Amino acid sequence: MEVREHYSLKRHNTFGLDVKARRYIRLESPDESEAAAEAARGMPILFLGEGSNILFLDDFDGAVIHLDADGPIRFEERGDDILLDIPGGKRWHDVVEETVRRGWSGIENLALIPGKAATAPVQNIGAYGREIADVLESCKAYDFQTGRFRTFRAEECRFGYRHSIFKEPEYRDRFLITFLRLRLRKNGTPLTDYGSLRRELERRGIVRPGPLDVFEAVSAIRRRKLPDPARIGNAGSFFKNPVVDADAYRSLSNRYPDMPAYPLPDGRYKIPAGWLIEKAGWKGYRRGDVGVHPRQALVLVNYGGATGREIYRLSQDIVRDVEDKFGIRLEREVRVIPPPPED
Ligand SMILES: Cc1cc2nc3c(=O)[nH]c(=O)nc-3n(C[C@H](O)[C@H](O)[C@H](O)COP(=O)(O)OP(=O)(O)OC[C@H]3O[C@@H](n4cnc5c(N)ncnc54)[C@H](O)[C@@H]3O)c2cc1C
Repeated sequence: MEVREHYSLKRHNTFGLDVKARRYIRLESPDESEAAAEAARGMPILFLGEGSNILFLDDFDGAVIHLDADGPIRFEERGDDILLDIPGGKRWHDVVEETVRRGWSGIENLALIPGKAATAPVQNIGAYGREIADVLESCKAYDFQTGRFRTFRAEECRFGYRHSIFKEPEYRDRFLITFLRLRLRKNGTPLTDYGSLRRELERRGIVRPGPLDVFEAVSAIRRRKLPDPARIGNAGSFFKNPVVDADAYRSLSNRYPDMPAYPLPDGRYKIPAGWLIEKAGWKGYRRGDVGVHPRQALVLVNYGGATGREIYRLSQDIVRDVEDKFGIRLEREVRVIPPPPED
């Protein structure tokens, strides 16, 4: 275990913000959880993975707990299925890559999502028609309050769109996820319904895609569409896609016949936040070192010297403007630390 005082988190958040943690505690194994809890006693706690879904407004006046425990994935065959036990500190993309190389299907659509494996269930990561909730069996977590490990079965995780129990106030920064158990298919058929994925596979002339084909197609689309945080600071989608009821959808689609929308099983509609932001005129907008990415309006970027507060202020201006123009209040997907009063 490594403990540092007044430690810069610049390398530990994908916006590249130079904020400091009063104490930084890096775990090389889940067995160090108890010692980490002891080292953090009496301080506010923040769990941190790769910081790819976090916006820091200030230094963090407390203990940052960083699970960095890598290790091999363990596999167990169960008929046509395969169970995987994954150390939480592994990079999520490495997990995806290893499974597709073995020909297993289930998470190939979730390629190139930054972050640690442990963090994938926290906001129920999703892309191209798949969410981790579709394949998660359980996760193991260390309880910083009781000092015991607890296993959460998928049904207990309260998964929703970019939501899980681990985001709820009583569980957040209390249960440190240390292991995931996933169930994948040995000879499964990948999910390829998602429009841009289907088109990419067609363009490549692939008729019966396997997991590796889907992995490569998704990776290609993402490389074209999303800025690489190693080159330009960002945290992926800054806002969630809003969901509106059928009446609101009808009145909006009368006004904007070109508005895309996805019907949900409960009769409501999901509207792409990126479309609303672009239609409101923000795509490519730049103010000092803060901006809205020119190719993807859902992504706010740090061109180098921006502060977390400047990024947050731009997000506030976008929320207000989209609400004025469309009557829809956007919610942030990114976690803001410390939480601002209106959140
Ligand atoms: C370029 C880019 C593209 C992205 N694309 C997608 C996408 O397609 N789909 C998607 O869903 N997301 C996407 N994201 C968001 C992000 O990658 C995911 O949310 C990812 O799971 C965050 O992982 P992390 O390790 O960086 O977590 P962090 O940002 O470090 O933390 C996220 C949350 O998890 C908590 N946490 C951290 N570690 C633990 C732990 N061990 N136990 C419990 N809680 C913990 C933190 O306190 C915080 O609340 C993207 C981000 C970027 C930068």
